Amino acid sequence: MSQQLLTSGLALWQWRSAAQKAALAANVPVTEVDWLLQEVAGLDRLSLRLESFKNLPQIPLQLSLEELENLWQRRVNEHLPVQYITGVTPWRHFKLAVSPAVLIPRPETEYIIDLAVAAVQNHHCQLEAGHWADLGTGSGAIALGLAQALPLATIHAVDCSAAALAVARQNAQALGLAHQIHFYQGSWWEPLNFKGQLSGVVSNPPYIPSQLVPQLQPEVALHEPWLALNGGNDGLDCIRHLVATSADYLQPGGIWLIEMMAGQAEVVAALLQSHGSYCDIAIYPDLAGIERFALAYRRGE
Ligand code: GLN
Repeated sequence: MSQQLLTSGLALWQWRSAAQKAALAANVPVTEVDWLLQEVAGLDRLSLRLESFKNLPQIPLQLSLEELENLWQRRVNEHLPVQYITGVTPWRHFKLAVSPAVLIPRPETEYIIDLAVAAVQNHHCQLEAGHWADLGTGSGAIALGLAQALPLATIHAVDCSAAALAVARQNAQALGLAHQIHFYQGSWWEPLNFKGQLSGVVSNPPYIPSQLVPQLQPEVALHEPWLALNGGNDGLDCIRHLVATSADYLQPGGIWLIEMMAGQAEVVAALLQSHGSYCDIAIYPDLAGIERFALAYRRGE
């Protein structure tokens, strides 16, 4: 889409006003109109902010107004997430590539990186330079966040989807973090061979109960990969698997950190407790106050 089309500033401004009205009526964030103009049409942020484009007789755009309108119709009428239209999402310090093969990284997940870093700093400094796993990496967000925050660490990022791994690899290259991350296609621990050696495992596994997946907001239920959402009957299938298997891979003192759904904290803490190999089990809320993260350490020798 490098083609440059000349569009009248006034016509664009009128399209934008109409699209913003449509957003309000459809309960879509109004800012997504500008996101589209910036990311897909190539309009610069300052002209958008100052609305100075309105007075230009001609603006070079990468799309015609008709093409923009078609994309916006998909956003509003088909509930296609704007991130899948633009192909990018902001996440932590990154602008990540995303495609419908990956879950769009959520703002609440950003905090899992800070929790991992705090766990390293507060408890187990020697873990910083070690090997970490991100299981179910999707777009690679968690692996990338860990690689950036722990520059001495090596991250092993696993996903069963080849299409997701392609996106994750692309992100690692673009962000200059590829040297720190190894990617593997497979199921959970299957492609990894680090028994007893890992400094930490961090994961945002699928955790939505199967019957709730179709009831999620249409942007999610209709367009995001169910593979990344569906956690089985009670939503806990993957988390149970992670509790049961991670202890074999973590070194003593190694960090176990996952994201979960509202209402799962008590069960997850009980699973960790009854397994017997974990200690210092703690639950952390996300910025909305929802119990979102479970952290534990591999018990010592
Ligand atoms: N947080 C995601 C959602 O609300 C779910 C992610 C997951 O299942 N890991 O749709």
